[in-house]
Amino acid sequence: MSNKSSKISGFYKLPIEKRVEFVKDFANLSDEEAKLFSSCLDIETADHMIENVLGTFELPLGVAVNFLINGKDYLIPMAIEETSVVAAASNAAKIARIQGGFKTESSESLMIGQIQLLRIDDVVDAAEKIISYKQKLLNLANDQDKILTNLGGGAKDLEVRILDTPIGKMIVVHIIVNVLDAMGANAVNTMCEALAPMIEEITGGKTRLRIISNLADRRIVKARAVFDKDKMGGEHVVDTFLESYTLAAIDPYRAATHNKGIMNGIDALIIATGNDFRAIEAGAHAYAARNGNYTSLSKYYKDKNGNLVGEIELPMAVGIIGGAANIHPKARLCRKILGVKTARELAEVAAALGLAQNFAAVFALSTVGIQKGHMSLHAKNIAVMAGAIGDQIDIVADRLVKEGKIKLDRAKEILEELK
Ligand code: NAD
Repeated sequence: MSNKSSKISGFYKLPIEKRVEFVKDFANLSDEEAKLFSSCLDIETADHMIENVLGTFELPLGVAVNFLINGKDYLIPMAIEETSVVAAASNAAKIARIQGGFKTESSESLMIGQIQLLRIDDVVDAAEKIISYKQKLLNLANDQDKILTNLGGGAKDLEVRILDTPIGKMIVVHIIVNVLDAMGANAVNTMCEALAPMIEEITGGKTRLRIISNLADRRIVKARAVFDKDKMGGEHVVDTFLESYTLAAIDPYRAATHNKGIMNGIDALIIATGNDFRAIEAGAHAYAARNGNYTSLSKYYKDKNGNLVGEIELPMAVGIIGGAANIHPKARLCRKILGVKTARELAEVAAALGLAQNFAAVFALSTVGIQKGHMSLHAKNIAVMAGAIGDQIDIVADRLVKEGKIKLDRAKEILEELK
């Protein structure tokens, strides 16, 4: 584990080799591991991961700096195509550090598996029968995954729900499985499929869907941070921030964008660690609507000193074992940089990052707006689109920003002038 500080100013100004050196030193990477940054996923590995492989698809991999979470320093790897996200997270983490950084907590890694049961005349009687076989069903589920159960995980509980649906009453059996350090979908799906015949036998009904639920509301992670009012520009800026946040709390049109900002950070880490970002997205948004109204995943208020307090709470089904987490060499490398030892620790880092990202976006929106921060990188993209190469990219981009007109036709004109 690294005990080095992740706090660094001007990291973005360093040439790439120096940035790699910093990360190598922070995470005690070997020369071989450091070389991985500039390599691609090899085609044979890719061919075993999905079907019909043609090649690989690259995303920029960066690292967010300055994160202090539960008193430990983290460099957070982020794989993302969107400009400003990594810089914004790093900046928010720098502000959060002043008041002690992020504090997090998480529940056990409990996932829910669903088994749908149809064609039953008496659903109440069938539900009672299933409950009376609870221990036998849990034992059968646990027989499917001796590795998990031997480590202390496995199916822990079983619940039965009766649902009134447009096609009549049906039963949904939930098994609650502690998947420990895995994301858990394969493990839980295998258990669900194994239980289906026994449930049919007990009830005389017909099972249909047998799969994990991505609304992982028993696998919750929370993060909290205090953002220093002076660093934000004074208490009036905290008030402005809170006015902006209020819209996300009550209006789904704003909440969707607000939560998208949270996921900018979380997804980038989820991808960098080889986790399933669709699962995380599905869980987050379903959780945001759990009370019937889609709302913000974060909350903000002012403490007695006038500082801004931010809190976030969401499901986080991430693994450090299974899926692509161990197959993809860069996912392994990113995990080493993070220095996380458990899936829960990874989940807590993800929540802190989501909160940082969200703070940064709302802070920018309630003050200068986000376009200013986006502009210089956006201008570089436009310069490249116009055909600029090498030094031309910065020259064209700088002029676009200075003129305040970041347009492709203008970039082409400047490029012509240069030629
Ligand atoms: P997995 O089956 O590859 O690995 C989990 C297994 O690893 C466990 O069942 C256990 O036997 C073993 N294991 C060893 N050490 C462990 C430890 N310390 N903690 C926990 N398990 C340990 O993977 P998984 O996590 O069950 O499934 C994840 C994959 O499933 C992802 O690739 C995901 O994309 C995919 N998936 C997702 C969905 C969905 O989200 N709806 C559906 C199907 C598949």
